[in-house]
Amino acid sequence: MTDAAVPTHCPYCALQCGMSLRPTADDPGVEVVERADFPVNRGALCGKGRTAPAVLSSRVRLTEPLVRRSAGGPLEPAGWDEALSAVAAGLARTRADHGPDAVGVFGGGGLTNEKAYTLGKFARVVLGTSQIDYNGRFCMSSAAAAHQRAFGLDRGLPFPLADIPRTGCVILVGSNLAETMPPALRYLTELRENGGTLIVVDPRRTRTAEQADLHLAPRPGTDLALALGLLHLVVAQGRTDEAFVRERTTGWPEARAAAMAHWPEHVERVTGVPVPQLREAVRLFCDAPTGMVLTARGPEQQSKGTDTVGAWINLCLATGRAGRPLSGYGCLTGQGNGQGGREHGQKADQLPGYRKLTDPAAREHVARVWGVDPDALPGPGRSAYELLDALGGDVKALLLMGSNPVVSAPRAAHIEGRLRSLDFLAVADVVLSETAALADVVLPVAQWAEETGTTTSLEGRVLLRRRALSPPAGVRSDLRVLHGLAELLGHEKGFPADPEEVFEELRRASEGGPADYSGITYRRIAAEDGVFWPCPGESHPGTPRLFLDRFATDDGRARFVPVVHRPAAEETDAEYPVLLTTGRVVSQYQSGAQTRRVDELNAAAPGPFVELHPRLAERLGVAEGDRLAVVSRRGRAVAPARITTAIRADTVFMPFHWPGEGRANNLTNPALDPTSRMPEFKVCAVRVEREETL
Ligand code: SF4
Repeated sequence: MTDAAVPTHCPYCALQCGMSLRPTADDPGVEVVERADFPVNRGALCGKGRTAPAVLSSRVRLTEPLVRRSAGGPLEPAGWDEALSAVAAGLARTRADHGPDAVGVFGGGGLTNEKAYTLGKFARVVLGTSQIDYNGRFCMSSAAAAHQRAFGLDRGLPFPLADIPRTGCVILVGSNLAETMPPALRYLTELRENGGTLIVVDPRRTRTAEQADLHLAPRPGTDLALALGLLHLVVAQGRTDEAFVRERTTGWPEARAAAMAHWPEHVERVTGVPVPQLREAVRLFCDAPTGMVLTARGPEQQSKGTDTVGAWINLCLATGRAGRPLSGYGCLTGQGNGQGGREHGQKADQLPGYRKLTDPAAREHVARVWGVDPDALPGPGRSAYELLDALGGDVKALLLMGSNPVVSAPRAAHIEGRLRSLDFLAVADVVLSETAALADVVLPVAQWAEETGTTTSLEGRVLLRRRALSPPAGVRSDLRVLHGLAELLGHEKGFPADPEEVFEELRRASEGGPADYSGITYRRIAAEDGVFWPCPGESHPGTPRLFLDRFATDDGRARFVPVVHRPAAEETDAEYPVLLTTGRVVSQYQSGAQTRRVDELNAAAPGPFVELHPRLAERLGVAEGDRLAVVSRRGRAVAPARITTAIRADTVFMPFHWPGEGRANNLTNPALDPTSRMPEFKVCAVRVEREETL
């Protein structure tokens, strides 16, 4: 390591804030310093980013492999040879006894592009299994599906974040940026300073909603009806952009008819949002010369998430706010490499370059790069929840990297049971996560600052995370793990451990695909501080803004899709009379596997809670801090009450970062969206009881 600070990016969310790591004499050997020159965050970092080095030297970090040498016995320290041999043997035995699809692979949206690419190739070439998916399915898959359906291409934001302050009006749907990616809040602050307006749609008056000119607080699960109600008013008030609709879209008559069936008064009854607020939202959005709709997990994590996002896209198209400068629809992807993670082949239905696994030309191209017979490549497998639910059934062994479904999957106690029922489980992680603790073999892997690799931010900007220090002895990179396993399973070539070598192959595999990285090199990323895909040649400048001339459909026109409101998969009733919605807090990240190991973050956010309105609290006889049991048809979770007027009286909120009795995902509903296969994390029916203490 040199004495110079190494420019890199945060290991956590999709904003991928720029930072530098400066060597220090003390543990962990580096400290975070601001990088004001990186345009996305201009030096700002949230507490998670600032404290990220703490995980590098955490005393609970894994520094040697662990092997469970007898069924039901303890995990015991082992050497790498024994551990890798045990994994190779476990996977090979299952494959030999039950066929390749009895072996599953589960990845993560935090894995670098190189790892996601190699994991997908490993599954399909070495294991020959179709059973691979990843936790990004739980993140942005509904937005991705709606994006593809309407525009022919999915890139979270089809414009840079820097465009947001220059638009006229932003409708932010189901995103609490102030807590999930705080440095991004400044884009909304600058929007308002520039005279633009902000409408926030959220059942909670979050810190983000407090910034808004207008806050709409719909009943959870009704965002689709809300969007249709707004579109109804747009048409009724003659605010449709007829020329845009005529020249750049198809399918408007059907979409318009669907929206016109959603009368504002009916929408008010369904959503709880008063008609005057609907009218005010339409006025703000349509009076502005340009506008954007940005969605996040609120509308997306529903059993109708694809149609819900589709309804918001229809609103953009009808008002001419897409495919034009400073206007459009975008998704605020959540995980650090949520964007790149879905482009390079760890998704059940995709090949690298965002190619479809069912497309013969795509199979031919990728198989040629991989040096295999295209007919030997398996077809699409199950989606994430369906794969997890099949564990112990026809999927008998699992290799898992970069995910902690014991905490993060819906109906988590059930999924924990499925993991326990496996014949063989291998987990690669940096700490003994709740999922790793169930494994037969645990492989300790390097962290973000200890290895080089690329990520693709929510803007579609491909970035380089650089190695700033060596991993501890006893730890290997995920790529080296896959390299070793491939060798043991008879593939001595094709799985390099060097990230740049992998990236060079990824470039070739993505060439000509929707997410074309062929013109992007490590050298260019370093020189340009990121390159936006598609970038189909080294002299190509990259593409910060998509769709300005044409959409990525066959005819170049955006597609309206007619959608109608339907209820959540589970509605309230006498037994379960309250709605539950879940989400994140600023000082923890996803399943908490890393952030729960950081003292400063734990001090700020020590555990779960149940947020409820004073009226509901009064009805239940609950006081601030009382232990509450929240019970759904799938299980229960216990956490203290936090009483606030910032939530609807018919809804309770729980953050989902913790295991144990407060595990919010014990409660959540795995009802799946029919298109994206996204589970319905964001709404289910519960009852809330005061837990009597002895
Ligand atoms: Fe890291 Fe996201 Fe925080 Fe930025 S906002 S420092 S990327 S966790």
